[in-house]
Amino acid sequence: MAKINMRLDKNPMPSQDPNVRNKNFLEVALGYTEEQALDEAARCLNCKNHPCVDGCPVNVRIPEFIAKIVEKDYEGAYQVIHQTSSLPAVCGRVCPQESQCEMHCVRGKKGDPVGIGRLERFVADWHNAHSTEAPEKPQSNGHKVAVVGSGPAGLTCAGDLAKKGYEVTVYEALHLAGGVLVYGIPEFRLPKTIVQKEVDGLKVMGVKVETNTVVGRTITIDELMQEYGFEAVFVGSGAGLPMFMHIPGENLKGVYSANEFLTRINLMKAYREDSDTPIMDLKGKTVAVVGGGNVAMDAARCSKRLGAEVYVVYRRGMEELPARHEEVEHAIEEGVIFKTLNNPVEILGDEQDCVRAMKCIEMELGEPDASGRRRPVPVEGSEFFIEADCAIEAIGQGANKVLLSTFPEMKLNKWGYIEADPVTGATSVPGVFAGGDIVTGAATVILAMGAGKEAAVAIDKYITEKKAAK
Ligand code: FAD
Ligand code: SF4
Ligand code: SF4
Repeated sequence: MAKINMRLDKNPMPSQDPNVRNKNFLEVALGYTEEQALDEAARCLNCKNHPCVDGCPVNVRIPEFIAKIVEKDYEGAYQVIHQTSSLPAVCGRVCPQESQCEMHCVRGKKGDPVGIGRLERFVADWHNAHSTEAPEKPQSNGHKVAVVGSGPAGLTCAGDLAKKGYEVTVYEALHLAGGVLVYGIPEFRLPKTIVQKEVDGLKVMGVKVETNTVVGRTITIDELMQEYGFEAVFVGSGAGLPMFMHIPGENLKGVYSANEFLTRINLMKAYREDSDTPIMDLKGKTVAVVGGGNVAMDAARCSKRLGAEVYVVYRRGMEELPARHEEVEHAIEEGVIFKTLNNPVEILGDEQDCVRAMKCIEMELGEPDASGRRRPVPVEGSEFFIEADCAIEAIGQGANKVLLSTFPEMKLNKWGYIEADPVTGATSVPGVFAGGDIVTGAATVILAMGAGKEAAVAIDKYITEKKAAK
């Protein structure tokens, strides 16, 4: 048996220097070397009751894949992960491991947990660099399924159905497939070549991807099922509708929703000089980002890279920031300034109606609210100003509505998301399944992927039973 490494701290992730990376869009985290991966893998105790696996939403068999790393069987490790997760190179980079798998790791009781996400990334990158095995096109079973939306939910559902022989067409509103993975999460956290590889792999398996197609406008679900012959539809249309604070000054020039700001940067490459859809020049300017989640961190770190001084204004404290810890640490290292326990009350403009300042009020934490988190309460008379040229709102997203507004048969919950069976994704409309953010509200990549996986199983069962009943 290999010797256990009882060192308390996890191997640090090699990264670009903060003062270099805050001026470029290249990936920040560089990935473990083989030596570091072997050293980290040796920290795993291979626990019999493997609590880490229960912390992973798709139950990746963590001790098994880590044991394969110890044996230097990296392809074997990849195959173990791939049995339950279709996007390991993505999840190894963006999963909030500290609140999932790693939170349950026994090594975390005294010292750092095993770097499960970092090891997952190492294995996935090793596979992508070394594997020559191309995906094969499975034999068609003659049944057709449509998928609406090409985020992690839609891509996973499409891939799993294609493997079973279904003829799958993915309809995507934007000009590129990948959902938030391409339009939201910046290149410096998740290189787009990784997402493109996944999409290309699906195409090799026979999945058709129709971009620039807004289901509900260009084509309806009824048409897909009645005229195009799809026997089932999976809806994975996400939660990309930005929410606003509804404070005075939101219509000023220089106020963006994080969604628009990030889409322009990530999808439209607004940071390049030759971009067709540039954003305002932020060199030497000040940006105030409102919010404390991953979306706020991404907007802040993008603004920094565009040459701005950046403030993150968040109404709770540092401890309560909902973003992944790593993203907060990276933002601090890159020079983003946190103004926590503060809330904006007004955005002020100049004579040209451009943003000139954000009026904020200090907050303190009161009694816990319904979510169990302590409610932020304004401190009377504590108003102050942050001079800023640009304000970015990252306070949450709602359901994408285009499809739902043209599909009244679909039952929604009180928040406007699709009401679907939590396991199968079955909706109120026979043959229509749903999963990911459009069901749960804004959540995580791995949860969306898990929902797409479950729905693929349910769709297969639905079509098989319907065929048998004929
Ligand atoms: P999405 O990824 O939103 O994909 C939905 C797709 O459907 C989109 O491409 C959209 O254009 C398309 N669509 C919508 N309506 C239609 C229509 N009518 N017709 C055709 N297509 C349509 N999660 C993490 O785990 N870790 C992170 O670090 C993280 N960071 C994030 C950073 C940002 C900026 C954002 C916005 C989210 C982040 N998340 C993160 C959350 C995560 O990305 C989402 O939970 C996940 O992408 C949801 O997947 P999905 O497939 O349900 O939807
Ligand atoms: Fe952890 Fe995410 Fe991998 Fe699951 S998929 S083991 S939560 S990094
Ligand atoms: Fe390894 Fe930690 Fe999982 Fe135990 S809990 S098997 S040490 S990763």
